[in-house]
Amino acid sequence: MGESCAMSSASAATSGPWPLPPAIRASAVVHMAAIGAGALVPGAMPWAIGAVVLNHALITGAGLTPRSSLLGPNVTRLPDAAGARREVAITIDDGPEPEVTPRVLDLLDAHGQRATFFCIAERVLAHPALAREIVARGHSIQNHTARHRHNFSFLGPRGFASEIARAQDILAETIGQRPTCFRAPAGLRNPFLEPVLHRLGLSLVSWTRRGFDTREGNPAKVMARLARNLQARDILLLHDGNAARTPEGNPVLLEVLPLLLERLRADGLSAVTLPEGLKP
Ligand SMILES: [Zn+2]
Repeated sequence: MGESCAMSSASAATSGPWPLPPAIRASAVVHMAAIGAGALVPGAMPWAIGAVVLNHALITGAGLTPRSSLLGPNVTRLPDAAGARREVAITIDDGPEPEVTPRVLDLLDAHGQRATFFCIAERVLAHPALAREIVARGHSIQNHTARHRHNFSFLGPRGFASEIARAQDILAETIGQRPTCFRAPAGLRNPFLEPVLHRLGLSLVSWTRRGFDTREGNPAKVMARLARNLQARDILLLHDGNAARTPEGNPVLLEVLPLLLERLRADGLSAVTLPEGLKP
């Protein structure tokens, strides 16, 4: 508790009034200009409507692009200071999962590395001892919503607030630490999300690279995606919950993680939690 997840650029967003993201400001200008032109300039109405439609398409596109910063601050890499420390962040989503997570903890221990678990709060409620063990073994748990709703990116301000604030309360009560980082289900969102995160003191964290390990059951392919240009400051996305299975029926994370941890060791990189890695 108390350690900020926010990078210096993002931490300013967690105090004071909500700063309008550039895309929202530009969007307001487009709407006002369209209303003005449509009303005052003969023949301009179709163009004004076209501009507004295009504007909405761009905003929607930004929401469907997990690594975009157009809708507000979005951490996709650790800061420069982490680069100097040769750090990366392994993030593991959608757990805790009793069949997988304990074995993940053993693998991390065996290599002396740390990870961040973006947990679904209702799964934490179902497996509170496992969640507490994650933290007791030196890892970090952060907010991945209460229920991981599939229509999350279509929610409005109240829907976002209830999914995220409820997760904050469940996690704080269960593990004794209030998260400072948030990740949206599948990384998808809309312009109503950022004001809610700002109010709750949460920073949106996406990733540098992901292995698509909820769909890809071939460990070599997942590893190749994660390790392409692997370097300090990377934030890597994997899953203990909803993990794809190898042809032998193993959750793919359990076969990818040893390869990844070995590669980090060979490259002289260390995996740290997000609160550690985001320290300036
Ligand atoms: Zn997820």
